Amino acid sequence: MTRRDFLIYSSALTATSLNAAALYNTDKFLTADEYSTLLSLDTKLTKLKRHVGFGNFNLISYDDSLKVARMNRRIGAFNKEELSLIDRFFSENPAKYGFYGERTCYDLNNKISKKHVVKIPRTGHYIFKGTPTEDYARIIGDIGDTLYLTSGVRNVMKQLSLYCSKLKRLKGNLTQTSKDIAPPAYSFHTIGDFDVGKLGLGSRNFTAAFAKTAEFRQMRKLDYVRIRYSPNNSDGVRFEPWHVKIV
Ligand SMILES: [Zn+2]
Repeated sequence: MTRRDFLIYSSALTATSLNAAALYNTDKFLTADEYSTLLSLDTKLTKLKRHVGFGNFNLISYDDSLKVARMNRRIGAFNKEELSLIDRFFSENPAKYGFYGERTCYDLNNKISKKHVVKIPRTGHYIFKGTPTEDYARIIGDIGDTLYLTSGVRNVMKQLSLYCSKLKRLKGNLTQTSKDIAPPAYSFHTIGDFDVGKLGLGSRNFTAAFAKTAEFRQMRKLDYVRIRYSPNNSDGVRFEPWHVKIV
């Protein structure tokens, strides 16, 4: 190790893990302050989810989330930094992090009425009435009930919470997070798409393992089913064999 390398190495050790990781690649990261806001935001969203319930959390709007948090002592109102981080994740163009998908939602306070969705039993998830529900029933009819809904309608707060927990797991790395999950205003789950998986595969349904199942192979043969994020898609998102394109 040269002296210069040693200096880089030792200063990286004394820096926060965020900065250390940032030293070695060109990925974009949250600053240390933003990262600590992310942690408190993530905790608040988890408490909110527990309070309103898994199913309702898929649909709850921004305004209603703020109201519920403010009224519940155990959650507590979202603070200024948390609100501005939410606003940033919703408003900014994620192309700078390598996400080139389309914006699907222009209203931070987007409302999804229970009148417009159907709850799918035993999943805690919803699907929009009309084409999404009809296609889902057709897929299950063609493949059988070893296939099931792993994620359906997701309003802005639910997408935000998935985005935040992934960003937390990836230590504030915005570039890597953008490959795995759409930012809160860019998910097609907000307007009609849904995810399916194989019973018993659990969280591995959201990995390449799903593409190896008989269920996926059967699904590929159905001419009315399209996969939103194919391998090497132009959106910059990883291959998602489980994500059915409806819209
Ligand atoms: Zn999906």
